[in-house]
Amino acid sequence: MTAKPVTLQRTIFWRVMLITSVVVWVVAWLLLVFLHTETVLGTGPAMFLAGILLALVHGRRYHHPVWWLAMMNLFLPVFFTILVNLYKWSPGEAREPFIYMGSLAMALAMALTVKGWHMGIKTFEAWQCQQCGYALIHLQTDQCPECGRPFDPQVIQKLQVDTQSLPD
Ligand SMILES: [Zn+2]
Repeated sequence: MTAKPVTLQRTIFWRVMLITSVVVWVVAWLLLVFLHTETVLGTGPAMFLAGILLALVHGRRYHHPVWWLAMMNLFLPVFFTILVNLYKWSPGEAREPFIYMGSLAMALAMALTVKGWHMGIKTFEAWQCQQCGYALIHLQTDQCPECGRPFDPQVIQKLQVDTQSLPD
């Protein structure tokens, strides 16, 4: 059983979603800083939605910056919502913490985006889990310990991978 290769359409959609995510982050930050705090009511859900689409098109490749970017898109709006409800913040009270935390998150999100963009979305080497990239060498199992995807240990053994040459 060979892994499904990543199609061109998927690669394009993946790039489009990365760009969309950047646009949403930049617009959300600009509106928050230069307009008013209530704009997060619109940009928050947009960021969350972009996170869902990004996670879907990216797939369960946990060893990839874009996975963590998608998680940030999902996490930040939820986190802000929890804070507002927990501390009963008015828009005025929420403003400063939102700008500080939002700017920090923005810097991290952009770093993940740039790193992820350069890595691209691709199929993994034959000795890696085709779903998450985990190195399937010297394992006493036929399931990926990271994500549970089944694989054929005999195929991995036949590859006779030189473990010295493996990346971290
Ligand atoms: Zn896996």
